[in-house]
Order: sequence, then C-alpha cells, then structure tokens
Amino acid sequence: GVADALFRVVVLGDPGVGKSSLVGIFRREQEIHEQQEMYECTLSVDGEDTTLLLMDSWECEVRKPTGSSDSPMRIGHAYIIVYSVTDRSSFESASELRIQLRRTRQAENIPIILVGNKTDLVRSREVSVEEGRACAVVFDCKFIETSAVLQHNVRELFEGMVRQIRLRRDGA
Ligand code: GDP
Ligand code: MG
Repeated sequence: GVADALFRVVVLGDPGVGKSSLVGIFRREQEIHEQQEMYECTLSVDGEDTTLLLMDSWECEVRKPTGSSDSPMRIGHAYIIVYSVTDRSSFESASELRIQLRRTRQAENIPIILVGNKTDLVRSREVSVEEGRACAVVFDCKFIETSAVLQHNVRELFEGMVRQIRLRRDGA
C-alpha cells in the first residue's frame, strides 16, 4: 500500500558538506512538495515507483540525545551520511555519525550510503576515493562520490538508496 511505499531518509553530515545542495537538486527535478524541512520525492527505479521522504537540516537536531524518540538517529528508515572530499574533518565526522547510528540502531539492518561530495573541487581534495571506499567497507555501508554542483552521480545516489531499501523490504 501507499504507507508501505513511503520511506524516511535522513541526510546527516557536517555543516557545509552539501546536504541541502544534494537534496535541492532532486527537489527541483522532481517538483517535490515542500513540507517544513522534509521533501517528498517519488522515484521510478527499475519500473517501480518508490516515495522517499528526504529529511534535511539536522545539524542541531543531531546533537539531541539519541535516546529521545524524535532523535534523527531513531526516526530514519535509511541514512545518507555526507562528507566533503575537500574537508578531512567532515570525513572523520562521517565515521562518528556511522558509529553513533550503529550504537543507536544495533539490531537493525538499516540502509546507509556514505557520500563523498564536492568531487569537482579537484585541487582542494583532502580525502581520496580509496579512503572513502575503505571507510565504507569498514562500516559496512554503500559508497558513492558526488558533485552537487555538476549534478554528477546524484541520481545514482538516490536510485541506489531506493534499491537498498527494496533489498531489505524484499528480505533479500
Ligand atoms: P549543507 O550545510 O550540508 O546543507 O551544505 P550546502 O548544501 O548548504 O552547501 C554548502 C556550500 O557548499 C554551498 O556554498 C554550496 O554551493 C557548496 N557546495 C555544495 N555541494 C557542492 C559541490 O558538489 N561542489 C562544490 N564546488 N560546492 C558545493
Ligand atoms: Mg543545509
């Protein structure tokens, strides 16, 4: 049914890494309805529609105790953890967020995609693609590099999220 097909995807990461830019591209393309800081978007992937509720702007909320029921660490069906490839400290924060998520949602097999954004800024790169990939292996999640500015790999990111969600749903 409709309720089964709506998935809350929480976008996490340090301020300035490009969370709003990544979500924003998609919003314009799909003419998503804005409801506060959540954007609903329906993607047609492999011939099936799935609706994601993209939840952005968690920079303050993420510091809420993970015990509270409305903590971003608790409300997501799936997570996108973003760092900037030009900012090593944001990469370290991404690891901390992953650890925090694992602690909060231990028993659950939640889809998580680690995203290295701003690949267009070639000369300012501080985190290599190999490091990003290795981090995703350690933390048992998917990995993709994107450029919100060039709109490179952004569609692939959200389609990948839909496929991850379906894998869990279908019990594969
Ligand atoms: P947020 O704080 O994580 O939501 O980050 P924003 O989406 O607000 O982006 C912060 C700044 O980084 C803005 O000036 C964006 O234009 C810029 N930005 C975001 N994504 C990219 C990208 O892929 N490449 C470049 N060069 N700049 C980006
Ligand atoms: Mg933002």
